[in-house]
Amino acid sequence: MTEAIDTRILDCRDDHEAFRKAVQTWLAEVVPPDTMQRMIDADEDEGVTIQRDWMAQRGRVGLGTPHWPAEYGGADLSLMCQVILAEELARYEAPVVPAFMISHNHLPGTLLSWGTDEQKRRYLPGIPRGDIWCQGFSEPGAGSDLASLRTRADRKGDRYIVNGQKIWSSMAAFADHCILLARTDFDAPKHAGISFFLLDMKTPGVEVRPIRQINGRREFSEIFLTDVEIPAENLVGPENGGWKVAQSTLASERGVIAFEYIERARYVVERFYAEALKNDATWLRDDQLRREFIDQIVELQANRLMLRRLLSESGYDHKANDMLPSYIKLQGATFRQRFSSLLTRLAGLEGQRFAMGYEGVYYPAMFTFVTSFSWTIAGGSSEIMRNIIAERGLGMPRA
Ligand SMILES: Cc1cc2nc3c(=O)[nH]c(=O)nc-3n(C[C@H](O)[C@H](O)[C@H](O)COP(=O)(O)OP(=O)(O)OC[C@H]3O[C@@H](n4cnc5c(N)ncnc54)[C@H](O)[C@@H]3O)c2cc1C
Repeated sequence: MTEAIDTRILDCRDDHEAFRKAVQTWLAEVVPPDTMQRMIDADEDEGVTIQRDWMAQRGRVGLGTPHWPAEYGGADLSLMCQVILAEELARYEAPVVPAFMISHNHLPGTLLSWGTDEQKRRYLPGIPRGDIWCQGFSEPGAGSDLASLRTRADRKGDRYIVNGQKIWSSMAAFADHCILLARTDFDAPKHAGISFFLLDMKTPGVEVRPIRQINGRREFSEIFLTDVEIPAENLVGPENGGWKVAQSTLASERGVIAFEYIERARYVVERFYAEALKNDATWLRDDQLRREFIDQIVELQANRLMLRRLLSESGYDHKANDMLPSYIKLQGATFRQRFSSLLTRLAGLEGQRFAMGYEGVYYPAMFTFVTSFSWTIAGGSSEIMRNIIAERGLGMPRA
């Protein structure tokens, strides 16, 4: 039997202040004070369990998938309410849910535009119940130039037979399903021969090999596909039309996901400063370092305000502004890199020691520094984001 949803928070959605208060009351009840420490101490498996539990907790008040249509288990929240929710999740240091990144954003971003009714009904309701999806797009020879991908899918009757290799697939080791791009026509121009599939990760022939990252985590993996059978009904959009479908997926990736992270960064910086004051850190007496720290705070605040302005100018609809998602992604990623580089210097010798952290929650200097590089690559590199802003946003000629 499905548990009834407590609608006290959702009932306030038309009054933004009341909505914020209801979210705050709920978070104060359900986020125990040791949450952050539990996330830091957790290994990968425990981390995913914490995230699944937290998703279930959110689901109980209808906030599991707040941005989706109610018809598919979402809350249909306005973008303004999503912004308020993100602000409060950050303020209360609620668990971050990177394991659900693809499930939450990419899958609905794709299926709501391109999926059949059957695909939407079959796959979307599983997300609030804890289904984890991964994204099998990149290959060893296809990253920024994704359209060069070589994994092949050959139609045989009512199925496709897939062979090839994917790489850097976040959370693949924990995923139940994968959104997959494969080539279905090798003779067509490269963008025109790609199709988009939904793959059950338990299908025979799927082998996942985790890759250990420089920060000690094993968040992404290689996926080897050998004679993997995908039913034809799992094709999303037209055969050979997968490139267009994937554009919806990637736009959702570069959307407002960064908003919650930038809000969290604000609290991380405040906490870092409070600790420095408490410990009478040496850098507080160094004019140059103090100036650099203030510069970073100014940049962070400017980014937060600019993001809000862009969101409100687009009527809180990120689809209305073509370059907005790329801009948000670029700013968030490059800020992280500059700030974490400064952190390692502020922390002095102690900053050279490696301690495990948790993105978006806890930032020991060296962990943050080595992790920050991935953000300028994942989801499209900063150079690619600059190209998009220049070409689509500023109308500059294509290189
Ligand atoms: C943490 C992390 C998680 C990831 N998760 C996933 C995932 O879940 N699923 C998935 O499919 N992929 C994932 N990726 C892969 C990611 O999308 C690719 O790494 C990214 O698109 C870059 O591709 P590449 O690594 O092949 O580098 P390349 O494309 O080979 O780029 C190398 C360098 O050349 C630059 N460059 C390339 N083309 C241009 C150009 N036209 N103009 C200017 N500069 C250019 C790039 O900016 C980069 O600096 C992840 C990557 C990371 C780091």
